[in-house]
Amino acid sequence: MESALNVDLHCHSQVSDGMLPPAELAARARRNGVDVLALTDHDEVGGLHEAAAASRELGMRFVPGVEISVTWAGETVHIVGLRVDPDDAVLVEGLRDTRSGRERRAREMAAQLAAVGIPDAFEGALVHVGNPQLISRTHFARFLVERGVCKDVGEVFQNYLVEGKPGYVPMRWATLADAVGWIRGAGGVAAIAHPGRYPYTPLQFHALYDEFLQLGGRGIEVVTGSHTPDQYREYAEVATRYGFLASRGSDFHGPEESRVDLGGLPPLPAQLTPIWHDWF
Ligand code: AMP
Ligand code: MN
Ligand code: MN
Ligand code: MN
Repeated sequence: MESALNVDLHCHSQVSDGMLPPAELAARARRNGVDVLALTDHDEVGGLHEAAAASRELGMRFVPGVEISVTWAGETVHIVGLRVDPDDAVLVEGLRDTRSGRERRAREMAAQLAAVGIPDAFEGALVHVGNPQLISRTHFARFLVERGVCKDVGEVFQNYLVEGKPGYVPMRWATLADAVGWIRGAGGVAAIAHPGRYPYTPLQFHALYDEFLQLGGRGIEVVTGSHTPDQYREYAEVATRYGFLASRGSDFHGPEESRVDLGGLPPLPAQLTPIWHDWF
């Protein structure tokens, strides 16, 4: 049963690769009619206290979250943790480790871009970074748009920042077991983010879902800014087949950049159990 609440359980602030400070993000969500907001910065919980305080003042329910970068079968998977304790020592330490290779990777990305005639990308990306521990591909994408190399960040990713292109540097992120373990240890519930984005075969998807459930993962994003309406249906079926709780989140990063604004998605398909079914 779908609730009448506008629930948005996935978005980013300047503490990772979003464009707004946590308090402004909360204010925008409220203006857009969001009733329940989770901030899920990449590999960071540093914005949660600010977002929680702002949400409280706005009379909006707030859910502390995180989006953890994982390497599984050689590809990157994102695992969202919801209702985590932002001060849990093991989670905080695990996230610090997960972030730690980002600066070295960014310097290698810049070196590769310099080799194809785009100099000073490290410094250029850094201008867009809100948190020096979290320099991401998104910040490079914004720099390349600003430089006029590409017309938007989507075009940058297509031509520069993905496997096989100059500017792509592979990373070894957290394991699935670590990510789910940190989230559960911090009192949270884990969900597979935007499954429609992963390049796995059907057999690999099955193995991923199976392992995730074995580890105590419970949820999957069905309605997300990263899915097409066809994918809402596809992953609604997956949720039903595997017994996942269903999540909904815009994956909002910034006003001009993101296709879907905070709270701007359709509701979950009615037959699913929302991940928030027993929260309130
Ligand atoms: P990183 O964690 O540094 O590898 O950066 C991953 C981030 O890049 C994602 O969270 C998205 O915000 C962004 N991203 C990845 N692929 C694309 C794409 N095709 N178009 C736009 N943004 C993307
Ligand atoms: Mn991002
Ligand atoms: Mn993601
Ligand atoms: Mn995200």
